[in-house]
Amino acid sequence: MIQRPRGTRDFTPEEMGARRYYESMMRSVAVSHGFREVQTPIFEHTELFTTKSGPGIVEEMYAFKDKGDREICLRPELTASVIRFFVNDLTNYPRPLKMFYFGQCFRYERPQAGRYREFFQFGAEIIGSATPEMDAEMIGLAAAILERTGLKDYKIRVGHIGVLKGMLAQAGVSGDTALPILQKLDKKMYEEAEPLMKAAGMSADSIEKIIATTKVTGPLSVLDTYGGEAGEYLKEVFAILAQFGFRNVEVDLGVVRGLAYYTGIVFEVDAPKLGAEKQICGGGSYSLSELFGGEKVFSTGFAIGFDRTLLAIEKEGQTAPKLLVDAYVIPVNDKTRMKAYEVAALLRRNGISCDLDIMRRNMGKNFKYADAIGARRTIIVGEKELESGCVNVRDMSSGEQKMVPIESLVQHLKG
Ligand code: ATP
Ligand code: MG
Repeated sequence: MIQRPRGTRDFTPEEMGARRYYESMMRSVAVSHGFREVQTPIFEHTELFTTKSGPGIVEEMYAFKDKGDREICLRPELTASVIRFFVNDLTNYPRPLKMFYFGQCFRYERPQAGRYREFFQFGAEIIGSATPEMDAEMIGLAAAILERTGLKDYKIRVGHIGVLKGMLAQAGVSGDTALPILQKLDKKMYEEAEPLMKAAGMSADSIEKIIATTKVTGPLSVLDTYGGEAGEYLKEVFAILAQFGFRNVEVDLGVVRGLAYYTGIVFEVDAPKLGAEKQICGGGSYSLSELFGGEKVFSTGFAIGFDRTLLAIEKEGQTAPKLLVDAYVIPVNDKTRMKAYEVAALLRRNGISCDLDIMRRNMGKNFKYADAIGARRTIIVGEKELESGCVNVRDMSSGEQKMVPIESLVQHLKG
């Protein structure tokens, strides 16, 4: 038996029903916030991602040479693609340019619960200028999407890269020296961050202060003591979010997202019930377009880990409504078979989901099948009823049966 590749999944009809249900929910929330969908290729030039994240990223990607000797990779995320698309073709669009996407990503990671080699992201980007409004709009969209899914136990933690960057700069550390320190601090790997800070010439006192700052979490008031200028900016973002009515938001100055292109706010969402792989969303404001040969513009965006979000929803005991057919059409014998096809087509054409016997089974087996697929009703097409232009409609849960003229069948089923 041939098996699927490691770290990939197949989805059953039931799983796909739930996945599409939440996917279209997310789409409609994004559209209701004035975002429009874009799509980019699943494979890109490897250079796109090494330019964004450094050469090390190749280790984490499905990267290969194609038949024309080009360095190609399966995309590990979509932000780089969307910004490349912007630089290539969308610079004349009115700004702010608000876009969202949904699609699969590929990473060569060690598979475990909530971590796959093929997974899906729902994300959004705004290209415009760096304002608290733009950031609040972005965090607000992530919050609105999660709220709409019905997920209850999650926390949106918002920080500002400027807080730690500012403290490091004050201690004389910036640029390429600061970056690895920020990366360790992001992962709360203090034992590795400390020697780096010492080597950069920082005093024990300023090292201690920085480490303490990465542990600052809580309500907006924590910014009265920490944060400085970046903290003031965060306050403005939070004020707008409060007007939007979001409450699951708190300050976390330890959110750093250690990549060079982040410029301002950074945020993450955790669903604690997921355990180790609990981060369901990451985002922030950044400037990338100039790395891809475009003008410098400020953007802000996020990516929701679609699979983990669904796992979290499931863990809370929520299930998506099942997609069942409204009607299953059964001809009682070969003489009514052709008429049954006509009835099925009539229902389908009128937007009633409808299935029919295509296996030439007897009545008993057809009923069993209708039951197994969860059909709400069966439409029994019998010779005698047809003489008066009627069929029998049977409600599968109550067992009640009624003769209905074909003429008014659509109306009857919709009513
Ligand atoms: P992690 O630290 O969990 O690896 P990340 O920082 O690599 O996350 P991002 O690149 O910010 O994640 O991607 C956004 C979201 O995509 C994550 O918050 C997570 O929910 C999801 N995600 C990332 N990698 C995977 C994966 N291998 N499988 C499933 N979901 C993933
Ligand atoms: Mg990762």
